[in-house]
Amino acid sequence: MLDLASLTELLAQPQKIVITTHHKPDGDAMGSSLGLYNYLIQLGHHATVIAPTDYPDFLTWMPGNEEVMIYTEHTEEAAVLIADADIIFCLDFNSLSRINQMGELVGASSAYKVMIDHHLEPQDFDDYRYWDIKACATAQLVYTFIANELGRKDLIDKDVATCLYTGILTDSASFRLPNTTSDVHRIVAELIDCGAVNWRIHELIYNSASENRLRFIGHCLANCLEILPEYNTAIIAVSKTDLAKFDVNTGDTEGIVNYALSIASIKLGAFIVERNDMVKLSLRSKEEFPANEICKKYFNGGGHRNAAGGQSNESFEAVVQKFKSILPDYKKLLIQ
Ligand code: 5GP
Ligand code: MN
Repeated sequence: MLDLASLTELLAQPQKIVITTHHKPDGDAMGSSLGLYNYLIQLGHHATVIAPTDYPDFLTWMPGNEEVMIYTEHTEEAAVLIADADIIFCLDFNSLSRINQMGELVGASSAYKVMIDHHLEPQDFDDYRYWDIKACATAQLVYTFIANELGRKDLIDKDVATCLYTGILTDSASFRLPNTTSDVHRIVAELIDCGAVNWRIHELIYNSASENRLRFIGHCLANCLEILPEYNTAIIAVSKTDLAKFDVNTGDTEGIVNYALSIASIKLGAFIVERNDMVKLSLRSKEEFPANEICKKYFNGGGHRNAAGGQSNESFEAVVQKFKSILPDYKKLLIQ
């Protein structure tokens, strides 16, 4: 175990540091990782961000991105860095299963493990934990960790601020989710003062899609959307054939689940997609409805109350059917 004083002391000297985050990294995963990376390199640390898998193109513009190592493309090099590290920062996840094969390497490394995260039910693999489920994004926690715990707000420069802004923007669904408190807005204002160009970041994240993606969204809404009014639930189910037809890339499916929730009466939205190796579910809910409970109980996943995910090895059709068969158990909550 580490306390804050020993961690601060450790970070006062250059260390070999690995920063990692969950597989299929999203905006918060990459934003918080690169935000921390841009902070640590200013202090002379030898830091490497290792992403377990690749991530969407709309996230590849962040400062430091060119130095990110993708584990699946550099397994041997990454294994050496993980084994030799003095400190491994684990950002935006709290269970080693979320980093695939890297989980074993991180678990086996003698490095101090520092978890910075905002997901429920952390697994006990860390030596230092900065964890708060009330935070709207891990990037928010990286900000308060640097500014308040380490007392180095002075090192939040334009690059750090740009990455952290991106994490907060994407994980709070553009400052819309209930956990976007006034404190979050104050942090975001600070980040703008530190150099984050807010309007430009919005452009890079939300207005940089391909024509294919827009046509794919059109297809999802016109042909794959099913409304179950008796359960205030909307499902968008997309088969492997649909993905191939629109040449869908990593990240092209991101955010489509939110369209399901944009209908006034809908309390629960599901995006079910048939990938090569599994069927992936993304659930989003309004108010008190526990989307994470469904993912955890039935789909080997988890997440937050209003945004959760999971997967299954059953067939695409069976997963859609299974999801529908669960709804009667939640009818009371869904029609409230
Ligand atoms: P998404 O639907 O965008 O893939 O994921 C939404 C949220 O659900 C993520 O931020 C993450 O917290 C959680 N999540 C998604 N997939 C999984 C999974 O397979 N396991 C767990 N434990 N959580 C997941
Ligand atoms: Mn997050």
